[in-house]
Amino acid sequence: MNRTLTCIACPLGCTLSVELEGKDIISVSGNTCPRGKEYAISECTHPVRTLTTTMRCENGELVSVKTSKPIPKERVFDALAVINKTVARLPIAVGDVLISDLFGSDVVATMEKRK
Ligand code: SF4
Repeated sequence: MNRTLTCIACPLGCTLSVELEGKDIISVSGNTCPRGKEYAISECTHPVRTLTTTMRCENGELVSVKTSKPIPKERVFDALAVINKTVARLPIAVGDVLISDLFGSDVVATMEKRK
């Protein structure tokens, strides 16, 4: 079986062809650099995503956040549910951990918010 993917590891967006035999990856082609092969293998075996979204602050405003590491793709909506239920305390600095160990990643602030 062949699978065609668009590499999302950089803005170039190379088209990758992955040859699979069952769950085994036979070959990856179309990648311009080694990161494309790593992405293809990850996407076909254990897809992950870095989640970027917003979280409510105690003053009702929103702060932009992201996961510090990619999380399993199948847990993205579970992670969003937790983030949507969480209210961040002020003040917030860039890089502050607002939720720790959410599906193997921290949720960190990507902007500053003052009281
Ligand atoms: S294969 Fe390399 S150059 Fe191509 S999109 Fe992926 S990271 Fe970018």
